[in-house]
Amino acid sequence: MIETQKSFEKQETGILYLVPTPIGNLEDMTFRAVNILKEVDLIAAEDTRNTQKLLNHFEIVTHQISFHEHNSKERTPQLIDKLLNGNSIAQVSDAGMPSISDPGVDLVKAAIEADISVVPLPGPNAALTSLIASGISPQPFYFLGFLPRKKKELIAELEELNKRKETLVFYESPHRVKQVVEEMSSVFGAERKLVLAREVTKRFEEFIRGTTEEVVEWLNNEKIRGEFVIIVEGNEDADTKEDKIWENWTLKEHVEFIMENYALSSKQAMKEVALLRDIPKREVYTAYHELDS
Ligand code: SAM
Repeated sequence: MIETQKSFEKQETGILYLVPTPIGNLEDMTFRAVNILKEVDLIAAEDTRNTQKLLNHFEIVTHQISFHEHNSKERTPQLIDKLLNGNSIAQVSDAGMPSISDPGVDLVKAAIEADISVVPLPGPNAALTSLIASGISPQPFYFLGFLPRKKKELIAELEELNKRKETLVFYESPHRVKQVVEEMSSVFGAERKLVLAREVTKRFEEFIRGTTEEVVEWLNNEKIRGEFVIIVEGNEDADTKEDKIWENWTLKEHVEFIMENYALSSKQAMKEVALLRDIPKREVYTAYHELDS
């Protein structure tokens, strides 16, 4: 069922604000973020001790409650109760945007379910900030966050990603960045463009731009420290047939697939199939109903 949210219309419940925090440079905190953190009744923070430093810096005295991946299940209904009782809450993670490879999405879903306005603030984010300076085409891009930890799964995931034309964006820890770029070099090939964005917005911010092979060599000669975003050029030669998994399906199968996977009515799905296949709607309609009877 359709759900609409008029964020700033007067409402009985509190508002759930999603507040990004700096990824290294305190000056990246926006005026609005400071004001919202001052105004809300409660701050739900991934690590209250870490966030306290930020609050002290901006002279914010709002009370905090911990909200992280290990307690989000029991915390979410408690926070929803508070919101339903008219309290506004700001959710923050340790750095950057809540919910982006960080806790938050379950609370957002629960708030939407309870008809509570979810208001996002724009602000710091490591992926987008790195992407715009990478020199690699920023759109379309595919954001994955962290890759699987186990080697077998890592390689399988990279092989899947090798079918994509979009620019790829990853988060990685300093301990693993070398291994991951080495695997990228063998799966994507030595010539693929790759950029490491290190310590973005911090004093030792650095961009390492080269081919996968060149970046592996750079990593071999470096003491690897700091936080990294990895940006990889998409595979220009990716097989576009991937997009046409329906090629050998009947029209009926195609319509049913669209209905199931995109929660559309048969009418909407038939329209979509006609568009995808570039054939008249009537042809899909006839085939669907004839085969159906
Ligand atoms: N929610 C955050 C955001 O919006 O960017 C991301 C949180 S995720 C747990 C942390 C990862 O983001 C790090 O391991 C690193 O890959 C990346 N990251 C965070 N700060 C960074 C920085 N200043 N420079 C480069 N990468 C950074």
